[in-house]
Amino acid sequence: MIRRTRRPAPRPALRAVRTGTALRPLHHRLSPSAVEDVPLRAGDGVRLGLTRIRTAGRPAGPAVLLLHGHTASSDMFLLPETRNLVDVLLDEGYEPWLLDWRGSCRLPYNETGRRYTYDDVALYDIPGAVARVRQEIGDRPLFAVAHCIGSLALSMSMAAGLVPGLAGVVSQGVFLTPRLAGRTSLRMTLAGELLKSRIDHIPVDFRTVGFRSKYTPLFALASRRAECPDPTCQILHNSAWGTGASLFVHEHLTRTTHDRLAELLGPAPLWILPHLRRIELARTVVRWNDGDLRYRALPRNALDAAGAIDAPVLLLSGSENGLWLDSQELCHRVLARRQPRLDVAYTEIPGYGHLDTFLGRGAALDVFGHILDFLEKRR
Ligand SMILES: [Zn+2]
Repeated sequence: MIRRTRRPAPRPALRAVRTGTALRPLHHRLSPSAVEDVPLRAGDGVRLGLTRIRTAGRPAGPAVLLLHGHTASSDMFLLPETRNLVDVLLDEGYEPWLLDWRGSCRLPYNETGRRYTYDDVALYDIPGAVARVRQEIGDRPLFAVAHCIGSLALSMSMAAGLVPGLAGVVSQGVFLTPRLAGRTSLRMTLAGELLKSRIDHIPVDFRTVGFRSKYTPLFALASRRAECPDPTCQILHNSAWGTGASLFVHEHLTRTTHDRLAELLGPAPLWILPHLRRIELARTVVRWNDGDLRYRALPRNALDAAGAIDAPVLLLSGSENGLWLDSQELCHRVLARRQPRLDVAYTEIPGYGHLDTFLGRGAALDVFGHILDFLEKRR
């Protein structure tokens, strides 16, 4: 009788789960004395990150609050390997402030801790940060530059009248009228099915999940027709966390940024999908919590309440945005028709995708000038 000897089945890869609420340190090349960590808790008690970049040796200019996208972090504005937005703002005499809202990968909430929706970001995180910055800067002007979901949530805060009096807002990728890439909305439905399984988030760092895990099929799907062999790049560039969209134009990233993607973009929680799906179906930013009185401060539909927006807005988008497509151009057209009183402009960056408008090696040349022009006219 021949006995087949079997190797013991490999153990499932252990996932490093962050349980504390301590912020992961920022990665930057500024003088440590210029970087001040300002303690901040949101109105519902969640610990957030707020960083002030001080300008030494000259009077502080207007403040600019930077809002990252979901699963990214303030690190996206501080890349040491490129001329980044904080460098450019400092050179022009602005005082950058960086908020790590609860969807930041410097914080643990996407993987552990209390679940949330974008209502919480619009109601608690952004107004809390704006109030805290104002405490420090007095009556100096305060601008905001916001990317992706940071911008989408800001549009809700503004429509709710929770952040009045901003000197100007630059919104990248998406604002009041989200339109997702076709395959993305379809795959989001499929991803919703994953919610019923053991998967509650989509990791991006292949090294932490291993070759044989429940995530292997996701990485395999992402690798289809991929030109880059790096699994983290595949799941972001080729698949946008498995949705089929694309987050950046590949050749715009330096090799260093490319190799840091797993650090710059954390795991995406699948439990956020029902809210995102509702937003996507409505084609505008809508409130998730209808029955909970705490959220009554937010309008049901931010576009219907856009008349409350009291700041000039610059809508930016790369012409090749593979996630939000022409959402910004659409927003410009819709607001021109429905809210002609608002001061809203649209600028398209030729050849750029989504994240590369901030992470790209040439963003200082191709993108940041548009932001500076807008701020300069209103400072
Ligand atoms: Zn790549």
